[in-house]
Amino acid sequence: MVVGDIATGTDVLVIGAGPAGYVAAIRAGQLDLDVTLVEKEAYGGTCLNHGCIPSKALITASGLAHEAGNAEEMGIHADPAVDLSQMVNWKDGVVDQLTSGVEKLCKANGVNLLEGTARFADENTARISHGGEGQGSESVEFEHAIVATGSSPIEIPNFAYEDEPVLNSRQALALDSVPDSLVVVGAGYIGMELAGVFAKLGTDVTVIEMLEDVLPGYEADLARPVKKHAKELGIEFHFGYSASEWHEEDDGIRVVAEPAAAADGGSEASGDAASTEAELAEEPLELDAEKVLVAVGRAPVSDTLDLESAGVETDERGFIPTDDRARTNVEHIFAIGDVAGEPMLAHKGSMEGQVAAEVIAGEPSAIDYQAMPAAVFTEPEIGTVGLTQSEAEEMGFETAVGKFPFQASGRALTTGHSDGFVKIVADADAGFILGAQIVGPEASELIAELGLAIELGATLEDVAATIHAHPTLAESVMEAAENALGHAIHTLNR
Ligand SMILES: Cc1cc2nc3c(=O)[nH]c(=O)nc-3n(C[C@H](O)[C@H](O)[C@H](O)COP(=O)(O)OP(=O)(O)OC[C@H]3O[C@@H](n4cnc5c(N)ncnc54)[C@H](O)[C@@H]3O)c2cc1C
Repeated sequence: MVVGDIATGTDVLVIGAGPAGYVAAIRAGQLDLDVTLVEKEAYGGTCLNHGCIPSKALITASGLAHEAGNAEEMGIHADPAVDLSQMVNWKDGVVDQLTSGVEKLCKANGVNLLEGTARFADENTARISHGGEGQGSESVEFEHAIVATGSSPIEIPNFAYEDEPVLNSRQALALDSVPDSLVVVGAGYIGMELAGVFAKLGTDVTVIEMLEDVLPGYEADLARPVKKHAKELGIEFHFGYSASEWHEEDDGIRVVAEPAAAADGGSEASGDAASTEAELAEEPLELDAEKVLVAVGRAPVSDTLDLESAGVETDERGFIPTDDRARTNVEHIFAIGDVAGEPMLAHKGSMEGQVAAEVIAGEPSAIDYQAMPAAVFTEPEIGTVGLTQSEAEEMGFETAVGKFPFQASGRALTTGHSDGFVKIVADADAGFILGAQIVGPEASELIAELGLAIELGATLEDVAATIHAHPTLAESVMEAAENALGHAIHTLNR
């Protein structure tokens, strides 16, 4: 403690008010713990302010404009004009409603809110600096601490985010005019979601990806309809390339990309990038654009916390390793959310936050990642949960697999979106659902049924015997289960 400082004390100090931290704080408050939540910027963290919510707001709004302008077949003739600054104002309103809701919920659950940046002074003390000049700092002594400081966008060499035409996802979500042209570096889910937004708003979008396909980490049959649709939107792809530099031109910028194998760090990627498209990448590529969006991944925010003062260890990538109770190597210090490792998803952090609070309160909680869903809000959407077929087989399961194409769904056809399918992977002997992958309309919502099925230990029979309302997209889940059992009604059973 600094001489002259009066330290306040708390049972639980939560550092960071994103979906991991604020959920942990609220749960701790519900459990009658004395809890202090410190946040340096805005309640709701990346998710509410610069991530999940703003991106989904713009995906919805740009999708609406695109749908309205492309519904000739349904007899709708419209040419919607887009006012991006009004769209961004609307998005900001949604964000404000949610972030002020978080603040109110924290207060209602007895959470002490503290604005400032926290660092560890020792294993039971944190120093909170209140920012601006003359605003001072204070010490907080804690019995337990929960680190929930999240992640930030990774920068690549020569593409600094303070250089105006270079954007990270946060900056891209705050633009107030639609760029004529945009190069997106990285075809992961953030790059693909934002490429879709801008393409629908009328931007010429080109995507550069080091690997051989979009959405690395997702199975090829899930990624395929997404790439097909993106190409229909006019998005151009260059696989097997790594952006190396950019410079100003008279009327914009020129982005230079090297074949991934030749670029710095490309050798690791080129091992995976074995497709023909990647192998074709031999000459440098030059792309003219108004702006460039770099979306190559996110890194944990752990290096500004003086973790070593508290004895908390990180791994070589800066993540804080934890056990299934969210404990770090220091018994009374916990880590949750993006800073605690993959998958970097809001709901994973929230779940870890609840568990950390319950463990601190003495409850026998633990984290179970078995039914962890993931959703990608591209067109079509992707929703996954549990094991893929190959993961299940690698683990020694004999699998029963059922598939149902949205082309055979009456409801999908009436929405005008019938690309994609539902796939269910089950244990062939006992019929337990092990995992599911959906690509298609509302996949992000539909996947919840299969998450619940896994959580409850449901079988294919259970899902097939559940009466689903007609006509709904959810019937496709029932049909996929019936298909795995060999008695689907609306597809041929093989
Ligand atoms: C464009 C985009 C779209 C996304 N879409 C989705 C999606 O659809 N679904 C999904 O599940 N996930 C999505 N994510 C990921 C999601 O935003 C993160 O997984 C989630 O926000 C992580 O939550 P967190 O609480 O761990 O960290 P964060 O939300 O990053 O919050 C951490 C908080 O800690 C604060 N902080 C950091 N250091 C300190 C300190 N020393 N003292 C005090 N405060 C500190 C930060 O200011 C921040 O508010 C998206 C991310 C992006 C960028």
